[in-house]
Amino acid sequence: MAEIGFIGLGNMGGPMAANLIHAGHKLKVFDLSQAAVARLAGAGAGAATSAADAAKGAEAIVTMLPAGQHVRDTYLGPQGLIAAAAAGSLLIDCSTVDVATAREVGAAATAAGHEMLDAPVSGGTGGAQAGTLTFMAGGSDTAFARAEPILSCMGKAVIHAGGPGNGQAAKLCNNMILGISMIGVSEAFVLAGKLGLSHRTLFDIASKSSGQCWSLTSYCPVPGPVPASPANREYAAGFTAAMMLKDLKLAQAASRDVSANTPLGAEAAALYALFESHGGGSLDFSAIFKFLSGKT
Ligand code: NAD
Repeated sequence: MAEIGFIGLGNMGGPMAANLIHAGHKLKVFDLSQAAVARLAGAGAGAATSAADAAKGAEAIVTMLPAGQHVRDTYLGPQGLIAAAAAGSLLIDCSTVDVATAREVGAAATAAGHEMLDAPVSGGTGGAQAGTLTFMAGGSDTAFARAEPILSCMGKAVIHAGGPGNGQAAKLCNNMILGISMIGVSEAFVLAGKLGLSHRTLFDIASKSSGQCWSLTSYCPVPGPVPASPANREYAAGFTAAMMLKDLKLAQAASRDVSANTPLGAEAAALYALFESHGGGSLDFSAIFKFLSGKT
């Protein structure tokens, strides 16, 4: 079992770190929130006083931070993880960040003699707690081979997406599909209601027709057809609209960088931005249905 430094113990990182402890790994953890560190210390982790302290003596370091700037601040510079980690350490960033940051930090890690993976996740807080996340990893074959047994303790699928940054590329593309498809399904339910077609009937037909997709059959945005979906609990988040907006903006920035045509991705980002400005940011992203219905 490995000695692992873990930094960023929020809604995702906290339960992910707990699952590594349950699997028998020895953890040293750090977060800006002392309460978060204390929670994990209560579960058996060592408490570090800084990110660099968490890296001391660790063979592998996992980070789960809010956004690109936090990742740059934590990894780069004289006090950063890349400088603090022992030569040859394995660095795994599971945060969702822009592709350019992932590639820049990955290159700095490699230049310092470490191995690094960007390994963002799909599956939300439920998946983090249950240990059923999907990891999409970008980095070398050897970094992936070292990381896979660690990531497997936190997820049901660990997929090598290619070289540095490709994990983030996969995450942004996946979530752009998700944002667009959730809006499409929601618009269909709004139209059905106005045409006198019940939500249940549209669900029963579209789920067996060519409109079938995950946003419809696993995460239905109207109450009723899929009991586990957030629509049945006042849209309490699973995955917030603010998080969806973050990922759609990252997809748009990446599209601009490489001149990709993603007009529906741009529309989806604009719509989620409008929803957030109307107070929807903390609701589940499927609440875009309520917004399109004129109910928010
Ligand atoms: P969160 O805000 O709950 O947790 C982030 C944690 O990082 C906080 O505890 C914060 O104190 C800590 N932190 C911030 N800066 C730090 C620093 N410099 N040093 C140490 N700790 C620091 O966020 P989250 O929901 O856990 O999301 C984390 C990442 O996972 C994000 O990149 C997000 O996009 C991604 N993600 C989230 C979900 C989800 O459903 N929440 C799903 C998939 C991916």
